[in-house]
Amino acid sequence: MPVLVDGLFAKDESHRPTGSVKHGFARSLFPDGLTRGLITEDTPLVDAAGGNIAVAEAYFARLLGLPFTAVVPARTSAAKRARIEQHGEVCVAVDPPLAVYDRARELAAGGHYLDHLARLGPAVDAHEPADLVTEILHEVPEPAWIVLGVGTGASSHVVGRHLRRRGATTRVAVVDPENSAYFPGWVTDSPDYGTGMPSRVQGIGRPQIEPAVVDLVIPVPDAVGIAAMRHLAAAGLRAGPSTSAALRGACHLLHRMRDEGTPGPVVLVAADSGTPYATTYYDDEWVSAKGLDPSPHAAVLEHFTRTGDWRA
Ligand SMILES: *Cc1c(COP(=O)(O)O)cnc(C)c1O
Repeated sequence: MPVLVDGLFAKDESHRPTGSVKHGFARSLFPDGLTRGLITEDTPLVDAAGGNIAVAEAYFARLLGLPFTAVVPARTSAAKRARIEQHGEVCVAVDPPLAVYDRARELAAGGHYLDHLARLGPAVDAHEPADLVTEILHEVPEPAWIVLGVGTGASSHVVGRHLRRRGATTRVAVVDPENSAYFPGWVTDSPDYGTGMPSRVQGIGRPQIEPAVVDLVIPVPDAVGIAAMRHLAAAGLRAGPSTSAALRGACHLLHRMRDEGTPGPVVLVAADSGTPYATTYYDDEWVSAKGLDPSPHAAVLEHFTRTGDWRA
């Protein structure tokens, strides 16, 4: 794992065949369905998923020669749909976004609803030791924190429950982008909290939350995340926007631990590669057209990497 600053490691999942942390998760979902007899030859598969998990599910469905349908919210970008459809599967756009769950269940009649939100935790546990947490703990013994971006909360839930099951002391922090309901829902303990605003950060941020086993939620403004993205790319890790938001969260934790004198490394999960974001987050014109100015935040990050001191 590359070290970004002292005490910070990156678990890079961007090099997986489908380019994200969801590759390993989806790899666990299929044996789960097969051993429970829910997936047999010719079983049509359906899931309500528009992001990297759908791309990974489509990949494994094709590997098994099974038809797969991803039910995606209408606002899913054409580029993301194309990444799913590259494996030859159909996408059905549904609006409003939360209708995807009912629609997927309907479509799966006579087939199998993969239901990653509900099944991922047990499926990943059953796949041990070829799972994300085991790999992280093997590479970095006893990290104080694992930090990752949050969208639906599925990934952090998988990581958090797995750590608890093993009795590990490692805590889970998630970073939440602007306009996501996750942070306000977490603070106010209202799982159905809705902001009604779509997040700018594709893949993370969500209009409704699921319960999650997390210790800390750190809200990160988009401009700060973009500054962190450039910083990370300059350090050799060209990752997507949720990873850079996680970098900002990791800096917050490292600074706090330094102040408190608590030891222990922090592991950030690089959840996907920067490649799909070349014409958006990595494009200066796109960034300024969104009214975002990362430069003041870049200076703060630079200072932090040099001194370990965070003066926001
Ligand atoms: C899945 C994913 C996350 C975490 O999203 P959840 O919906 O909370 O699991 C963060 N970043 C990327 C790039 C992802 O693919």
